[in-house]
This record gives sequence, C-alpha cells and structure tokens, in this order.
Amino acid sequence: MNETAFAPSRCIIDLAALQRNFVRLGDPASLMPVIKNDAYGHGLLPVARALAKAGARRFAVGTPGEGAVLRQAGLRQEIVPLLGGMTPEDWRAATAHSLLPLLADGEDLKKALACARHDSSLRLGIKCETGMNRLGFRREDIPDLVDYLRAHPCLEPILALSHLACADMPEENACSQSQIRAFTAICESLRSSWPSMERSLANSAGLLGLPESRFDVSRPGIALYGGNPFAGGGSENSGAGLEWCMSVSAPVIGVRRLQAGQSVSYGRAFTAPAGMTLAVIAAGYATGVARALSGGMEVLLHGRRVPQVGRVCMGMLMADVTALPRTRPSDTAWLLGGPAEPGVAPVSAQETADRLGTIPYEILCRMGALNTRTYTS
Ligand SMILES: *Cc1c(COP(=O)(O)O)cnc(C)c1O
Repeated sequence: MNETAFAPSRCIIDLAALQRNFVRLGDPASLMPVIKNDAYGHGLLPVARALAKAGARRFAVGTPGEGAVLRQAGLRQEIVPLLGGMTPEDWRAATAHSLLPLLADGEDLKKALACARHDSSLRLGIKCETGMNRLGFRREDIPDLVDYLRAHPCLEPILALSHLACADMPEENACSQSQIRAFTAICESLRSSWPSMERSLANSAGLLGLPESRFDVSRPGIALYGGNPFAGGGSENSGAGLEWCMSVSAPVIGVRRLQAGQSVSYGRAFTAPAGMTLAVIAAGYATGVARALSGGMEVLLHGRRVPQVGRVCMGMLMADVTALPRTRPSDTAWLLGGPAEPGVAPVSAQETADRLGTIPYEILCRMGALNTRTYTS
C-alpha cells in the first residue's frame, strides 16, 4: 500500500514510542521482538531498524521471506521465522540468509538436512508443542528427535521455543502452568544433549504477567506496539506504561447541514432527529474502518470526540459535528490516536477492538495494511 497512495487517509507510526516500549519491556538480551506480518501492520523494515537502534539482538518474523528482507537491508541480528510449514524453498532461503529456522516436525528434519552443508553446521531452533496443539514436537517425540539430531551433527539446535495459549487470561493460570511444566521437561531432555540451548516461551502476556514463563528469551509482540495484553473486555489498563505507536488520520472532505428527518448514507440507517451538521471524512471499510462499526464508533476532531453516524461506506464515513461548528473541509479527523484536548482520550485500537468484538492485533494489522504509512521518530 505504500507505493501508491490511492486513499487520502494516513497511518502514522511513532518509532520513538516503539523504542520506549521496547526498552520498558526489559533487557534487550532477553527479548526477541516479534515483527511478523509486517510488524503487526507497522512496517517490517522501519520497525526492525528502530528496534535495532534501541539494542535489539534478535527478531522473530513470520516467514523466511520477511527474514530475507531484513538481511537484504543489512540487518545482522538473529532472525527466527516463526510460522512453520516451511517448504524446501523456504528452508533454502532460510539457510541462504543465515536465519534461525524452526524444526516443527519430522518432515522438517529432512528438509533441513537437504540444506546442511558438510563444512559448517546448520543452526536451528526446535518448535515444541505444549498446549496450543498447532505445530511442533510433543514431549513423546523428543527422544527420537534427539537421536536423529545426534546422528546428524551438521544440524545444530540452539533454541527451544513454544507458545502460550492463554497467558492473557488469569483465570486460565492452570493451563499456563501446565505449559510451563511441559516446556521445562522438554527443555531438560534437550539440554542434556545441548546444555547451552536457549529457551523461549513467553509472549507479551507471559512476559508481563507470568515471570516464571520468561526462561532465557521472551517474545513480545503486541506490547511493543502499545497493546496491553490484559486489557481485553473494555478496561483500558495502561499499567505497563506502554504507548500506542499507530495513529490513523483522514481528511474531512465535506461539511453539510442535515434537516430533521433527513437520513444519511446507505440504507437510511441514521435519520437526523433535529437539524445537525455532518462532516464527511475520507475513510471507510476499504481503508480499514470495519463497516460493522457503523453508528457505533467515535472519531477525534479538533481534539474532541464526535459520534460517527450512518453506514460506513467504502471510502467515506460521516460524523456528527454539530458540537464543533468550526469544522471545515481539509480538517484532520483521527480514527486512531491523534491530538486530544485535556481530559479527552483518543480512540485506541483496544477500544475499537472491544466495540467490534475482536482484539487490537486485528485492528493494527488491518489499518497498517490498508493505509499509506508515514513515520515519526
Ligand atoms: C505472535 C507471536 C508472539 C507474540 O505474541 P503477542 O501476544 O503479540 O506478544 C510470540 N510467539 C509466537 C510464536 C507468535 O506467533
């Protein structure tokens, strides 16, 4: 979306806020910031460069392709592609770019072996199944895995990794504790052969809420971008001191009076109860504003919140600016973030997600993918 600006809305990424979040999360040596899926919509390369400046020593990306982009830009950190399901081409790309690929099953062992060279060993990680039941080696698979790896010293495992299913849910603590125990047991058997193998389990919620899940390396994602993993369900808790990095603006492209009884937008879903003033804003579902939010969201204009009314269109939405009579075309409206008057909270990705019945991750990915991004630092 960044080559050609089809829409006038903008996604503004505050890289200084990203760096402050990263520093707040702990010692860079113990962190592997997660920048998969274009850094949750914030932009892979600008985010990686900003984190590198803040001291990041490793990155977790989604695919080997994302890792290759980082290498081609000259970044030399350890890079772990998380996704799994790697094809033989993915394995070749991962080794060609000196990434740290993850073994997730027996097929991967064969693909890895096909890439290993005789003169140097292939460093890799092991994806362990402890409760997500998606990918990875289960505890009962470990003895065979160890035998295979010991028989093939060209494969050098240096990292064990697993993923928590409900670290953001204090009421599911028993599940997290059982994952921590399973991971501990798997790592013990691996480390009896490779004592310096590093262990990584915690995501943002684990890092912030379950110190016993931190092991050697934590993998924060959403917290880097300002999300509080425990904030779901409406309570905007900024207890961790994190700041949102993404704001989204769109220009006002028209202002008009509506008489009592006149409707606005498709389906006549909103009818003015009395005379009112509407601002037409150049943002819509094609630029990431979910149509399901129609009539159930607010935007920030002149530092104040105003209600959106009527159906959200593909590239436009309307807001009631009766209370802001100085609103004019080319004023800037904010769908996320933006400058707010004292006592007014900007609209956050958490609030938007709560209204929509989803999580802020989805809001950030969508807004970042569908709007032209600009950066401040
Ligand atoms: C996405 C992801 C993370 C980061 O999770 P957050 O909840 O965003 O902190 C960590 N580990 C793995 C394997 C992931 O896929």
